[in-house]
Amino acid sequence: MYCQYCGKELADEAVVCPNCGCATDKFQAQKSNSGTGSAAKVFMIIGCVLSAFYLLIPLCWTIPMTVIYCKRLKQGVPVGTGFKICSLLFVSLIAGILMLCDDEK
Ligand SMILES: [Zn+2]
Repeated sequence: MYCQYCGKELADEAVVCPNCGCATDKFQAQKSNSGTGSAAKVFMIIGCVLSAFYLLIPLCWTIPMTVIYCKRLKQGVPVGTGFKICSLLFVSLIAGILMLCDDEK
């Protein structure tokens, strides 16, 4: 590898020419790589934020539904079939099945 500005022979891993101080091709490549890396990092962070957001949204209904069911269970008041189906679909499949089986008794 030779410097493209002064023609001095360079070490393969050199990013800057020791003779003229100009950036080598390797430096350019490294720079563009780190640019892509930074962009990837930004998208990774966005992905994390979005996934956290999508994980938190279901808590808006899973927690209230669990609270309602606990209260109903404590008071001995049966919950509606609609509630059971919603629980099955949106909270827990097993809990929903158990609720529906509990109704049959
Ligand atoms: Zn040079």
